[in-house]
Amino acid sequence: MAEGVIKLGGKKKSTFIDKVKEFLPEGGNLNLCLTCGACSSGCPATGLEGMDPRKFLRMAALGMDEEVTKTPWVWWCTMCQRCIYVCPMKINIPQLVFYARQSWPRDERPKGILGSCDMALRNDTCSAMGATEEDFQFVVEDVLEEYRESQPEFAEMEAPVNKQGVEFYLNQNSREPVTEPDEMVPLWKILHLAGADWTYGTKGWAAENYCMFLADDEAWKHIVEVKKKAVEDLGCKVWLNTE
Ligand code: SF4
Ligand code: SF4
Repeated sequence: MAEGVIKLGGKKKSTFIDKVKEFLPEGGNLNLCLTCGACSSGCPATGLEGMDPRKFLRMAALGMDEEVTKTPWVWWCTMCQRCIYVCPMKINIPQLVFYARQSWPRDERPKGILGSCDMALRNDTCSAMGATEEDFQFVVEDVLEEYRESQPEFAEMEAPVNKQGVEFYLNQNSREPVTEPDEMVPLWKILHLAGADWTYGTKGWAAENYCMFLADDEAWKHIVEVKKKAVEDLGCKVWLNTE
């Protein structure tokens, strides 16, 4: 071969992006990027750690596996899916991010997310903040009583806990009962005014699931199963997850 000639062709070695494509319907469209930049312009994580979704995808497409699976940027992605929404090719970048997270050893993943997932696994409330069944029920009843007294137009409002056989089982992010209990009330009012038949449960009430953000499939599945069982045990027809 003449000096300086670059040989094209040959079988491309299997890369991280190829493996991810195998898991996704239509391969997540990961090879259809037009490099238009629409994803990066709306991404809340653009610019952090010197990265953005378009750059991340290009690096993956170029087989820069080392960089893609090591960049801490993946932990800044909120999984909001805004990039998919604006992408003309509907490319599933958050799934690529998710699998990049999975390539991190579990104990090297961000401590905040890791600790929240592990805390949720410790009890049947699934609360990442460790709030107990008793604490949750106490706060709900306490806040309800306060609003019934201070706002006569809502004197009949209810916030049931463990009510059997109702239509809706409502989840609640732990942050509200633990740090901002008043934030629970607007939704109660809407449900009250709509005449909805609903309940909280003491088990599985916490709406957040940090194990999903941790990219820990087994733990994520466990949390969902605990919540699903709580809904079924109360005989509710619809699970309303506010997260
Ligand atoms: S919006 Fe879609 S096509 Fe455009 S750069 Fe981003 S991933 Fe590529
Ligand atoms: S899912 Fe991640 S990459 Fe996509 S817009 Fe949201 S933060 Fe950015």
